[in-house]
Amino acid sequence: MPVINSAKTDPNKILPLHYPWARRHYKAGVANNWVPEEISMQKDVEHWKSDHVLTADERRMVLWNLGFFSTAESLTANNIVLAVYHHITAPEARQYLLRQAYEEAIHTDTFIYCCDTLGLDPDEIYTMYETIPSIKEKDAFVVGLTQSVFSPTFSTEGDDNVRRFLRDLVGFYVIMEGIFFYAGFAMMLAMRRQNKMVGIGEQFEFIMRDESIHLAFGCDLIQTIRAENPGVWTAAFEAEILGLVEQAVTLEQRYAWDACPNGLLGINAEQFCQYVEHIADRRLERLDMPKRYGTPN
Ligand code: FE
Ligand code: MN
Repeated sequence: MPVINSAKTDPNKILPLHYPWARRHYKAGVANNWVPEEISMQKDVEHWKSDHVLTADERRMVLWNLGFFSTAESLTANNIVLAVYHHITAPEARQYLLRQAYEEAIHTDTFIYCCDTLGLDPDEIYTMYETIPSIKEKDAFVVGLTQSVFSPTFSTEGDDNVRRFLRDLVGFYVIMEGIFFYAGFAMMLAMRRQNKMVGIGEQFEFIMRDESIHLAFGCDLIQTIRAENPGVWTAAFEAEILGLVEQAVTLEQRYAWDACPNGLLGINAEQFCQYVEHIADRRLERLDMPKRYGTPN
């Protein structure tokens, strides 16, 4: 009863469970239920309207993160629904994907709520993934990696196709949600610790909790496919994955420099870059790969 390519699995028969990790992540997601409207934006509106609370650099950092996340969330949702779901044959893993898709809708809604309450120009925010090179490069990197899985004729039969599918999962779960989200999380949570833009900061904290479960599910899914398809995870494939993580780290560091070129609240851009390397090492460990950077947190 493999997690992909199981012709014998009845997709409607979830019991008995074969993958308790999928169920566990589902329950963890439900336990973290939240909606953005529960969080007051009153302080954020005051801070945003005031001309002395936020520096120009802090405003830039907030805008860059809203610009990146507003569209990254829907790219992720589209990947689950349009590329991944169809190929997963284990019903309990599909149940998790439905939960994750719902959470991505909540995240998308969070950025609608932020735009509305702060009175931001949606045509500016929602086109930043095209107009801001450091954002565009991150999205283009993941999209380029995953495109073949979006083809209506794509199948996961055969080792080459399983590797294509794994590239999609690494691209979205490990790189997008596991690396590309994390400099932004660190910046927004640093703002919150200074009591600035506290509503958005709290929303980012909820999103980060969700994303850590998405990442954990993605790693369990990758590891299960790897165990069930021996021969797919070759040394050459592992070297390729390492190369992708290295490229992702470079893009995320470029983004960190671009979002806060002069540092932020006592944290300089170099420290955000070190944090990205630390995070990347932890992601590699989840894939049973050696650390690449050895950078302390
Ligand atoms: Fe999300
Ligand atoms: Mn996610």
